[in-house]
Amino acid sequence: MAESFDLVVIGGGPGGYVAAIRGAQMGMKVACVEREHLGGICLNWGCIPTKALLRSAEVLHLAKHAADYGLKIDKVDFDLDAIVKRSRGVAKQMNGGIKSLFKKNKVTHIEGEAKIASKGKVAVKGKDGKTTELTAKDVIIATGARARELPHLKADGELVWTYKHALAPNTMPKKLLVIGSGAIGIEFASFFNELGSDVTVVEMMDRVLPVEDADISKFAEKSFKKQGMTIKTKASVTELKKGKDSVTCVVETDGKKEEITVDRVIIAIGITGNVEGLGLEDVGIKVDRGHIVTNEWGQTGVDGFWAIGDVAGAPWLAHKASHEGIVAVEKINGVKGLHPMDKGNIPGCTYCRPQVASVGLTEAKAKEQGYEVRVGNFPFIGNGKAVALGEPEGMVKTVFDKKTGELLGAHMVGAEVTELIQGYAVARTLETTEQELMHTVFPHPTLSEMMHESVLDAYGKAIHF
Ligand SMILES: Cc1cc2nc3c(=O)[nH]c(=O)nc-3n(C[C@H](O)[C@H](O)[C@H](O)COP(=O)(O)OP(=O)(O)OC[C@H]3O[C@@H](n4cnc5c(N)ncnc54)[C@H](O)[C@@H]3O)c2cc1C
Repeated sequence: MAESFDLVVIGGGPGGYVAAIRGAQMGMKVACVEREHLGGICLNWGCIPTKALLRSAEVLHLAKHAADYGLKIDKVDFDLDAIVKRSRGVAKQMNGGIKSLFKKNKVTHIEGEAKIASKGKVAVKGKDGKTTELTAKDVIIATGARARELPHLKADGELVWTYKHALAPNTMPKKLLVIGSGAIGIEFASFFNELGSDVTVVEMMDRVLPVEDADISKFAEKSFKKQGMTIKTKASVTELKKGKDSVTCVVETDGKKEEITVDRVIIAIGITGNVEGLGLEDVGIKVDRGHIVTNEWGQTGVDGFWAIGDVAGAPWLAHKASHEGIVAVEKINGVKGLHPMDKGNIPGCTYCRPQVASVGLTEAKAKEQGYEVRVGNFPFIGNGKAVALGEPEGMVKTVFDKKTGELLGAHMVGAEVTELIQGYAVARTLETTEQELMHTVFPHPTLSEMMHESVLDAYGKAIHF
């Protein structure tokens, strides 16, 4: 006999588990099927364990600079195994938290691999090999994504790593080459660079962190180089020649080839959705370039099937996945006055040193869309708290619509900007103009005062610079 639910969620990542909990809160009988670990990539192999690693790198950096703060630390060293152990421990703790939340909210957690059997039916193959059937009026597909590889750029877990291998490295590479300078590539580059690896980053586009505002990319790149990284832009790795304990990478820049031999390579060239083996084609769900096609509510176009999170396309971010989960469940339940997901207002953060964070349009994108813009800039060096923290490196840039004063985008690089960006995200949700931002009182001394000053600068009123 098939067990019957109102909602079956396939995948227990930040998209799936949040959707499941919201469904249960709304009175639905919900099952969440997960084949591996609750919390998905985010809690187990993504956001959280990387931030734990980067925190170790940050503390190491501060310890190395203890003298700048009038402190004496005789010998600063690290133990990579202990750093990784801490990171894995943090992931495990968070994963256990989801189990408790499911219990509290009465979400049925089913361990196994799910496949769509037919409309309203999901078959789950358990670890014992037995298949059980679940029925539900609505099914949310939240199966996430995995590292993208290319025929000539394939990970083996030994010499060539994806993020999973890099999170639990089999060695501390003396020389490391990172392919791709998006958030994932740059975070690992930053981590290993801080620990002393000789890091080279190869990026196809003309700048690192290519989705960020050009000024922010430029600032970050300069800082990475100052920290000792080698950055190769407009470059691609065309071949990996594996040795016994090293890899020789053929790097092509402007038609010129060079060979760089390193201990390990990290491939961070994007991700691709987990769409295979789900039976999507059998019910007519469309897939485009590795991702399920949906509308702004997460509907797939096939009645009763929804898709959210990484499997439903960019931006590949945990908070986007969770928000899409909430929107889909509330849409299923006919919530009145519901807003669809606004992809233009999803903050993006990179936890390298210096941190990078942004929301909304870059200056170039705003101009491309026909806006006449006013731009404000404020440097960290002009902020008392930044200088007191010993973090004078960074900037805050704001982009406004010259006609209406609407805040179109905000872009930051520097210490703690990943915590600050949410202020601008709220401002954008409220469709705030420069007027409200200028009239907002920012506490002193805080880094957030730079958010105020950047707005003031856009209108020629900055006080401290
Ligand atoms: C190294 C790294 C760092 C990152 N850092 C950040 C960050 O700082 N901030 C941020 O916002 N994002 C970050 N991300 C991205 C973030 O992890 C993803 O956007 C997020 O996990 C997507 O959530 P999801 O629920 O869509 O999918 P996932 O988290 O991938 O979860 C999908 C789940 O579905 C399960 N599953 C798949 N197929 C089946 C099946 N057939 N049956 C049952 N279960 C199935 C999988 O086992 C998995 O647990 C990072 C990613 C990586 C790789």
